Formats: sequence, structure tokens, C-alpha cells
Amino acid sequence: MIGNEQQIMAMRDKNIAYELFLFGSLTIIGAYHLALFFFRKKNRSSLFFGLFCLLIGLRTLLVGERFFIYLFPNFSWELAHKIQTLTFYLGVPLIICYFKSVFQNGFHSKIVRFISIVGIIFSTIVVLTPAKIFTVFNPAFQVFTFCVIIFILLNFIKIFRQKEKGINIIIVGALALIVTSLNDIIFLSIWMNDHGNSFIRTVCRTGNLSSVGQLIFVFANSLVLAQKYSEVLENEEVMTAKLKEMNSHLDELVIKRTEALQKSREKIEHQKLELEKANSALRMLTLKDPLTDLWNRRHYDKVILIEWNRCLRYERSISLLMVDIDNFKAFNDYYGHSAGDECLIQVAHTIKSYFNRAGDLPARYGGEEFVVIMPDLGKDDAINMALQLRQAVEDLKIPNKYSAVCPYVTVSIGVASIIPDMNRSPKDLFLAVDKALYKAKASGKNQVQFVEFKT
Ligand code: GH3
Ligand code: MG
Ligand code: MG
Repeated sequence: MIGNEQQIMAMRDKNIAYELFLFGSLTIIGAYHLALFFFRKKNRSSLFFGLFCLLIGLRTLLVGERFFIYLFPNFSWELAHKIQTLTFYLGVPLIICYFKSVFQNGFHSKIVRFISIVGIIFSTIVVLTPAKIFTVFNPAFQVFTFCVIIFILLNFIKIFRQKEKGINIIIVGALALIVTSLNDIIFLSIWMNDHGNSFIRTVCRTGNLSSVGQLIFVFANSLVLAQKYSEVLENEEVMTAKLKEMNSHLDELVIKRTEALQKSREKIEHQKLELEKANSALRMLTLKDPLTDLWNRRHYDKVILIEWNRCLRYERSISLLMVDIDNFKAFNDYYGHSAGDECLIQVAHTIKSYFNRAGDLPARYGGEEFVVIMPDLGKDDAINMALQLRQAVEDLKIPNKYSAVCPYVTVSIGVASIIPDMNRSPKDLFLAVDKALYKAKASGKNQVQFVEFKT
């Protein structure tokens, strides 16, 4: 540029004013977004974007009219150049991280990480080496940046197709940055000499447009971030309203749920009771004889032990009867098995009706044999009971044509009685009663026999 001092100074003042305006805008936008991140750490996009803004803000002071050097004339050129280069090298990873955090669906994570690592490596070289060395790597980083720009544009197309919110504004901002940067590159290129293309020369009138592009780009992104923030806030408001409503219904809900719980608890309680009933019925079934409904041998075994011990403790006598139907095989053979069953039921019924004292326990021992436990009953009473029972069965007058002793069904009964002592067991009582029954059978059946215990 050629002109007199006044013209050149006026141009410089204009440029400085413009650059300071950019610096101020970018710094305020950057600081604002850093503050957003500070208050909400989850928002990493604000962090990356804020840092990016501050970096390019700082860069506006270091390039163009270099107002930074004007402010600090003694500032080391080497250091200033390092900072200027760093704003570029760190800006690339920052902007890619920012895009990744805004558009989670685009920008492949591994590539983003690769770009960040390359940016950090180049930055490290800048920090550790003098300008003479690190400037050598600059063309390489420029090529790398070009590739990153292609990568970003490809992702923009992808995100644009997915119609993600905010992408339109960001694309407008990015286009502004690209077009203004292209303008600056062409303006500073060899095509801009006096013999250059007149069209290009009419289009590219100034070489300092990219800073405006940066501002547009930054503003567009601020808009998108603001939009996202508003959305989050709005969602939160909706959620808060919903929560409030839910809270107001909570008491009602708790009462309803408690009622439902109470009901289901009652139901379970009822089911438990039913189950217990069924269980005890089942237990009874295992102790009862299904044909005669008398207790079975299993129950007899249990009860005889209990009663024996009780009589042992109180020194009371205990008596046992063993009842066997006479010539029952002949009955079965002649009248048939179901008539036999019927006969068994009738005899059992008679036994049951005779022995109904609280402690008495009539049981079907097996086949056509029955036993009766009679605690607290002595020998004479026991024999008496047996005699009555024998008579009662005969009085049933169930015909038994082929009986060797009587035309009707009869029973032979063995009786044993004892006051339990420590030297004996219920087994001894059973052996005695079995012996007595054998004696009754051997003596002609249809009678009662008693066997004394051997001392
Ligand atoms: P005794 O006078 O010596 O006792 O001769 P008995 O024929 O009564 O004795 P035995 O032991 O020879 O036969 C018993 C019969 O009882 C055999 C079997 O047919 C019959 N019996 C056993 N259990 C049942 C039953 O549950 N139902 C029927 N109908 N008959 C049975
Ligand atoms: Mg028998
Ligand atoms: Mg018999």
C-alpha cells in the first residue's frame, strides 16, 4: 500500500479499531461460554467453544496490525510468535472437540481423538523448540488443517442429511468462514499482481475478511449453543411442572397402593390359611385308613408310645385290645370282596361307637385286624369292654355261611393290661395282646381271652 503518512495512519487506525472490536467481541463471547461451563460442568461444548473464541480473539491481536506488540513493545518476538502459532495449532483440536460435543451422531470419535493428538504434538513442538525450527513444520500442519476441514465438511453433509437441529446455522457460519478465508488467501496470492485476472481483482478488494468470517462463525455457533440451552431449560420447566403434578398426586397414589398392598396381603393370608387347612387334611389322610375311616397303624405306633409314657409317669394302667374277624377269608370267598369291605366298615363302625372315651384310640392294624388303646383302664374294665364288643359284633348278624363257629360274622379278641414300668416297652404289651388273640383263636374263636404278663 502506498500513500502519505496521514492516509497510512488513518488506514492503520481504522484497522486497529476493527481488530479491537473483533478482539472484544470474541473475548466476551469466549468468557461468557467459559462461565456457562463453569456453572454447568456437564456442558463440555461450552468449554471447547469458549476456549476456541478466546484463542482466536488473542490471535486477532497478534496478526494484522499486531496491536499486541504496540501494547507491549518489549515483548519477545519469539514468544509472541509462539503464542500466535499456538492459537492456530490448538484451535484445530478445540473446534473439532466442540463439533463432536454438539453433534454426537457425527464426527467419528477415533478420528476426533487422532486430530486432537496431532494438534497437541504440533503444539508441543512449538512450545519446546525455537521459531527457527517449529516454523519448518507449519506447511505440514496447514495440509493437516486442510484435511480436517474436509473431514468437518463431510460430517456436516452427513448431519445435514440427518436433519439434526442447529446444523443449518452452523453450516452458514462455516461457509462464511471458508469464503472469507478463501478471499484472504487469494488476495495474498500471486494472482493479485497487476497483470492478474481483473474479475478476481474486482471481487477480492480487501485481504482482511477472514476475521469477519470468524466473527460470523462464532456468532452462528453461539446461536446454536443458546438454542440448545433454551431447549434444555424448556425441557426442565416441563419436567418440573410434571414433577409438581406428580407430587400432588403422590399422596393419593400412596393411599391407593397401600390399599392394594393390604388387599393382596389379606389374600395371601387367606391363601396361607387354606394351604394350612389342606396340609393338615393331607396329614390326616396319611394317618387314617381310607376304607373304615379309623386311625391306621402309623398313628397307632405314635399314640401307643405317648400313652405308654404318660401312664408310666402317672403309674396308671394301660390296656390294649386286638380284634380279629373270624373266618374272614371264607366270608370273602363266598360273598365277594366288596361285601367283605362292607363287613369291615360295619365292624369298624361298631368298634368306634364302643370306644369313644377321650383317650381311647381304635385303629385298623391291618387286613381284618383292629387294635384299641385304652389308657387309664384296668384289666377288668378292659375285659368287660372286649366282651361287650364281641357281643355287639355278633348282634350285627352279618351272615357268614361258611364260618366254622357261628352263622354270623364274629370276632376273637385278645386283651392285655399293665401298669407300665421302666423295664418294659409298648412292644411287650403288643406281644401279650397278640398272644391273647392267638389263645382266643386256638380256643375256638368268637371269644375274649386275657394274657397275664410274665413277671
Ligand atoms: P381266622 O379266623 O383264623 O382269622 O381266619 P381268617 O380267614 O379270618 O384269616 P386269614 O388271615 O386267613 O384271612 C384274612 C382275610 O382277610 C384274607 C383277605 O382276603 C381278607 N382281607 C384282608 N384285608 C381285606 C380288605 O381290605 N377287604 C376285604 N374285602 N378283605 C380283606
Ligand atoms: Mg387275621
Ligand atoms: Mg381273621
